[in-house]
Amino acid sequence: MFDYLIVGAGFAGSVVAERLASQLNKKVLIVDKRPHIAGNAFDHYNEEGILVHKYGPHIFHTNSRDVFDYLSNFTEWRPYEHRVLASVDGQLVPMPINLDTINKLYGLNLTAFEVEGFFQSVAEQVPEVRTSEDVVVSRVGRELYEKFFRNYTRKQWGMDPSELDKSVTSRVPVRSNRDDRYFTDTFQAMPRHGYTAMFEKLLSHPNIKIMLNTDYHEIVDVIPFRKMIFTGPVDEYFDFCYGELPYRSLEFRHQTLEQEVHLPTAVVNFPNEHAYTRVTEFKYLTGQQHPKTSIVYEYPQAEGEPYYPVPKAENAAIYNQYKKLADQIKDVYFAGRLATYKYYNMDQVVAQALTLFKRLKTAQEEKALVLDSVAVSNGNGKGTMVAATLKNGINGADKASDSKYKDN
Ligand SMILES: Cc1cc2nc3c(=O)[nH]c(=O)nc-3n(C[C@H](O)[C@H](O)[C@H](O)COP(=O)(O)OP(=O)(O)OC[C@H]3O[C@@H](n4cnc5c(N)ncnc54)[C@H](O)[C@@H]3O)c2cc1C
Repeated sequence: MFDYLIVGAGFAGSVVAERLASQLNKKVLIVDKRPHIAGNAFDHYNEEGILVHKYGPHIFHTNSRDVFDYLSNFTEWRPYEHRVLASVDGQLVPMPINLDTINKLYGLNLTAFEVEGFFQSVAEQVPEVRTSEDVVVSRVGRELYEKFFRNYTRKQWGMDPSELDKSVTSRVPVRSNRDDRYFTDTFQAMPRHGYTAMFEKLLSHPNIKIMLNTDYHEIVDVIPFRKMIFTGPVDEYFDFCYGELPYRSLEFRHQTLEQEVHLPTAVVNFPNEHAYTRVTEFKYLTGQQHPKTSIVYEYPQAEGEPYYPVPKAENAAIYNQYKKLADQIKDVYFAGRLATYKYYNMDQVVAQALTLFKRLKTAQEEKALVLDSVAVSNGNGKGTMVAATLKNGINGADKASDSKYKDN
């Protein structure tokens, strides 16, 4: 009998598996329908021996020391700061938009102070910032919105930014300085030997058994277990009873080239040309030395693997219906990007998984306390009352940790 069946060997499932096995000595079975561990972060050496990310570039960045320290138990790091250029008006300019972007694009020589004035002079008044379009035009005006954001967003999401929640473009900052890093987090680094090597260590505890190429439906009624952690799509778990939650997908076209370096930087965005949104050259990310190089093109599409939850109010409403069902099921816990229908970065998923683990641990400790009290009661005859009081306490504690977890 397994203590836990964990569905999905991505960050959410693997982190909870590691904690349960190493900290609570639980027996864990982790299943994934894919032929590999590491979920969307999976990387591997291709036929030419170049380390590539199968599901598109994954760059690790976080402001959380806890998350960084936790993962450091399973990998060494290679310092890496990500940089992106955008192809606009026949030039390659820094993205996010910064002082150099504006000066290069318009042939100007503005200072940081002057460029802030420039942004203010072109920004549009928006009474209430609701959509992705509102976010951008209210900060940098319509022309830059058209050049950098409108078509990119339409390709990426199959929708105009005016139809999309403000959260999508809010993630991309605009800077009046010359900082051309894509992220500004405190910790920015790549696992030195890749993500899959890190996951191999995460899942190496003898209490963890791994079953790949296995949809959990195939084994859920066959292999006995006490509790389940589910990190797959929440709508699939409930047989789509409230309808399918919409996702945006991508097709990744990988290519190896007979040259040592292909792009001037790790990623080039193409907001306005081509059907693909961006091209990534992996050697920038991995630091690998190789006479050839591998790149990947990303073609957004409606059908396919569920990658990006579509952030619209009506989808959030459907998800909330599923969440109500999820909250009612005993001994099944939902975590990760697909099970909580949220666009989470890797570090956020790790944080969510660590929080879930703490909640499970607390529940176990409180249950042990109840059992201890019951054992004492058998000796002194007053135990029933003590146990009942403690049990009510547990329910309350469960509720409290519940809401803490859900706020993440
Ligand atoms: C193109 C792209 C680029 C990204 N880039 C970054 C980045 O640069 N930085 C960053 O921090 N984050 C990035 N992310 C986000 C990152 O991929 C996620 O945060 C992370 O992978 C989520 O982990 P997870 O465990 O929740 O989900 P996943 O990694 O998706 O793992 C879920 C697993 O569950 C399995 N599963 C689903 N259903 C079943 C079933 N029925 N039976 C068995 N197994 C099942 C799936 O096969 C999958 O392996 C990117 C995502 C995408 C799509």
